[in-house]
Amino acid sequence: MHASEPTECGNIVHWSMHRGAWFYRLRVTLLGSVLVAVCAWACFDVMDRRARTEWNAPITVGVVVMRLGDVSPEALVRLTERVRVLERRLSMELRRYRPEAQQPMIRLVPYGPVEVTEPPPDVPGTTLWERLVHTVELFQYTSAVDRAAGVPTLALDSRIYLLAEPPRSGFDYSVEGYSEAGGRVGVARVSLDATTVDLGLFVVAHELFHTLGASDKYDEHGRTRIPEGLAEPDRVPLFPQPGAEIMARNRVVDATREIAPDSLEELYVGRWTAREIGWLTAPVRQRTESAPIADATRY
Ligand SMILES: [Zn+2]
Repeated sequence: MHASEPTECGNIVHWSMHRGAWFYRLRVTLLGSVLVAVCAWACFDVMDRRARTEWNAPITVGVVVMRLGDVSPEALVRLTERVRVLERRLSMELRRYRPEAQQPMIRLVPYGPVEVTEPPPDVPGTTLWERLVHTVELFQYTSAVDRAAGVPTLALDSRIYLLAEPPRSGFDYSVEGYSEAGGRVGVARVSLDATTVDLGLFVVAHELFHTLGASDKYDEHGRTRIPEGLAEPDRVPLFPQPGAEIMARNRVVDATREIAPDSLEELYVGRWTAREIGWLTAPVRQRTESAPIADATRY
């Protein structure tokens, strides 16, 4: 008995070690493959997002309209129709900086409206955990909307989701939004009726430009930063401005007063924003990138 035990034991130990080593190798191989795939996808995604602001080829943006509650059907139809007007307005603005650029360089494709029963997740928090939870919740929300509206997610360079809600009596019209800077997804909300169609699309454009790398051009009180947030900073006299800079949101009418734009014809892309998203030429862009915004006021 003592003579046979070591042999049996030895065989079992040997087999266990063999099996353990095999599983270990399998696990390492699988994890390694997943890691390589994730890294390859991340590299591709980073390069693909950067390519959006080189403007060598048109980018395609989905404008996904969602309807929450009793929103005017006429206003929703008008909103979809005016997407083409926003596309034209952005083309005109690009032409100021790049007259030779192929047009339209930003193609806007409307989707929806999709009926929803709840709004998108609120503005993301500040902690890493809050942002992680928000990312997951937003992904789940937009995935469901994409399925309902037939949005070809992978074929689009950016997607802006616009939630249309009925105006609430006794409240001012509200427009708001958030986006991942340099990311692919933006969210905007508008109290929609016949008078706020263009305002809603203005916010769509604002959030789209965030996804392309543009920063806000208003201060902590919501007031336009001057001159970065001006449509025409060289205008003489400076006020009233002819329109609202896309990242400042308001049209400055005099030194103390500014108002929300009425129409997409008032949408301007100012010099500072144009540099951030790569519309301005390389030498000027390099000066911007190396200079803080305060220094940039020299331009
Ligand atoms: Zn913003």
